[in-house]
Parts: sequence; structure tokens; C-alpha cells
Amino acid sequence: MFVDIVKIYIKAGNGGNGAVSFHREKYVNAGGPDGGNGGKGSDIVFVADDNLSTLIDFRYKKKYIAPNGENGGAKRCTGKSAEPTVIRVPRGTLIKDSNTGRILADISGDEPVVVAKGGNGGKGNMNFATPTRQIPRFAKPGYPGEEFDVTLELKLLADVGLVGFPNVGKSTFISVVSAAKPKIANYHFTTITPVLGVVTVGEKSFVMADIPGLIEGASEGVGLGHSFLRHVERCRLIVHVVDVSGIEGRDPKDDFEKINYELRNFSEDIAARPMIVVMNKCDLACAEQIADFRAFIEEKGLPCFECSAATTVGTEKVVEYIAAALDKLPPPVRFEAQPLTPAELSEQELRKKSFTVRKEDGVFIVEAPFIVPILSMVNMDDYESMQYFQRVLRFSGIIDKLEEMGVQEDDTVSIYDFEFRYLK
Ligand code: GDP
Ligand code: MG
Repeated sequence: MFVDIVKIYIKAGNGGNGAVSFHREKYVNAGGPDGGNGGKGSDIVFVADDNLSTLIDFRYKKKYIAPNGENGGAKRCTGKSAEPTVIRVPRGTLIKDSNTGRILADISGDEPVVVAKGGNGGKGNMNFATPTRQIPRFAKPGYPGEEFDVTLELKLLADVGLVGFPNVGKSTFISVVSAAKPKIANYHFTTITPVLGVVTVGEKSFVMADIPGLIEGASEGVGLGHSFLRHVERCRLIVHVVDVSGIEGRDPKDDFEKINYELRNFSEDIAARPMIVVMNKCDLACAEQIADFRAFIEEKGLPCFECSAATTVGTEKVVEYIAAALDKLPPPVRFEAQPLTPAELSEQELRKKSFTVRKEDGVFIVEAPFIVPILSMVNMDDYESMQYFQRVLRFSGIIDKLEEMGVQEDDTVSIYDFEFRYLK
């Protein structure tokens, strides 16, 4: 089964907690603090795997929870960091935050991409001795790992997309110009999954995708509908195949317009992609039919080719033209990861977030996973940025909680690695 969109949950590992410990040795009393730092939690990393062609595995496993870092220990022992957790997906998989639609990553290249960062370890009490505080009885908790509900959406990476009405010969075409072997038969709906083929022309090669089911689903309510059009989104060139013989009783001009309508309906962007037209089944067409259709296409300023995929006549010319045309076209579309914006954390959402505050050794220690991404966005030297941060503290209820616990002017408040003095 071809599955090209799934929702899963990913959670990176938390950092280990820092340790509270004091040096002990015979004949030495009141040794200094020696609690070590926690280790880093496991990152969740996505990597493209060319052996995978669908997202079907994610139908069965939907939760990915990466291990935490180890806690720090006595004698300045740092906790062990957890190894990254690798998730393999087909090349061309887009990863979006399901709740906001924000693009987190596009797994198109060979580089592994960290999508959910493991939390850093908390600092042990060995870091907190000062001349006035020689016995720090607190350590920092580890940072929480990032977690997301994500939507994985496969958008095939192909240079060229074959589109056209059912039964015009798209699958036959790709099977004669590449090693791809899609199912071919003389009835509609034969091909129900997009198929990729590598086409080699002399020294060059490119990837062609047979995109099925454009009209079948849309017009007859079968359910394929537009769903495969997402696989045309990255194509650099669209090859529009028509049955110029009209052997099935339809008018090829009509077919051509209908498919273009579907493309435009899906995305103006795709409709604006460069297109060439392949008149297929020329072995069944008469000279007038071919000349008439050619005039119709050339009037639109599009390149037009005659071929018969069944007998392979003319197919070579088409792929030669494509190989040359691709040289002049921009590379396949890559999607950029989008940064989190403050606006995405509205006041209302902040009110729903949970946190804890505890007081240790005169220090108010706040644990609030939702604040981690905010901390990384906030520039503490910038007035407006600080104002924003203060609003976050207020709307989330953290300030109220501190007051309730009796925070005084000048007390230290510690939120992960960020520390500030409380001012009323
Ligand atoms: P698709 O639905 O566009 O993928 O079409 P297929 O490749 O499955 O072909 C549909 C039918 O048309 C099959 O029976 C093919 O054998 C036939 N066919 C494809 N190309 C040609 C051609 O150039 N000439 C003739 N006569 N038949 C063809
Ligand atoms: Mg087909």
C-alpha cells in the first residue's frame, strides 16, 4: 500500500539532572560540593533512506520516545549523554508541526536532520559554590527534550512528472524509457501509486515520476482525487501525455484542458511550471489528427512531440529534449524549515502550560518545558525581547506562583540556565 501522509508523535530525551553531593574523605570534614552535571538527552534525527518508498511503517508505530540523558553523580561525575535516535523516511519527506502547520524539516538531502532536540543536562551543585554560598544544596534539573505531533508528508523528489488522463500511456512511457515497471493494462485506475524511474540519456540522468489518478478520483469520487498532485510539487518540468488518437472516444484537446484545470486548481505554482506535451498513440492516429493537435499546442507556445510508447517510436527524442531542458531549469524545490514565532504562543495557550516551582537554598527553581524554545528565542540584552519574556512569565502564572511562595525583592529565580534577580 502506498501511504504518503501520516501523523506521529516524537519526543526527544530529557537531559539528566545535575547532582547534589559533597566531597567526603577521611579526616576531611565539610568538603566542597562535587555534584556532577547531567548528560544530554537523545536527539530525534530524521534521515532519507532510498530503500523506502512509502510511509507505511508509520501506520503501525506512531510514537517515538527517545531516551533521557543520565543524571549526574557524586565526585564530579557527568551523566552519560544518550545517543541520537534515528528515524528513516523516504527521500522527499516533509515534516510539519501538526498543530501549527509549521515546516520543521525537508528530508531531501543526505544529511541527517535533527528535528526534536534532546534536552541539555542540568548543572550539578559543583558549579554553584560562591564565596557567600559555600554549601549549595541545589542542582539544576535537566532541560526537557522537544516534543511535537508531526505530520510526515511525502513529496517525491523527481525532476520530471508525467501527468495526463487515465489510459493515455504514461505508465507505458516510463516503462520504456527507464527500468521502472509499473502495472500497465487497458483499463482505468491501473496505476494506483506514483512510480519513479531513472532515465539515462548519454552521460546524463534524471528522475521521472509517473503520477497516476489525476482525473479518476477527482471526477468520479474514487478517493484518489488530488492526493497524488503533491508529488508534482517538486518537479522541475511537467510532461503532459495525451492520447492523440482519441481511441477511447474522447477529444485530446478536451483531455488536455481538463488536466490543466486540475493542476491549476491544486496550485498556481504547479500550473506555472514549464511543460512539454507528448502526443502518444501516434501509431493509432491519422496524420490530420496529429497535425490538428500539434497546431493547437503550438499556438500555446509549448513544445510538442509525437510518439508511440507501445512501439517506442519517438520516445528517445522526448527524453533527449528533457535532459537538455533540465540543464537550464532550477533544481527541484526544497522547503525551508520555518522558525517558531512568538505569535504561535498566544496568551491563551500559555495559560494552559504546566510548570513547577520549588525553593531550594533560597533559590526559586522553575521547571517549565514550554519555556525552553522561548528561552532560545529571547535576547536578554534587548528591551523588547525581555518585555516579551516577562509577559510569558506573567501569563503562564509563574509570577503569581513565585509571589504565592513568598519571593522577595532580590531573590534569585532560576529557569534552566537562565537566572535573574526578582524585582517587584
Ligand atoms: P496510463 O493509465 O496513462 O498509465 O496508461 P498505460 O500506460 O497503462 O496504457 C494504457 C493502455 O494503452 C495499455 O493497454 C497500453 O498498452 C496502451 N498504450 C500505451 N501506449 C500506447 C501507444 O503508444 N500505442 C498504442 N496503440 N497503445 C498504447
Ligand atoms: Mg498508469
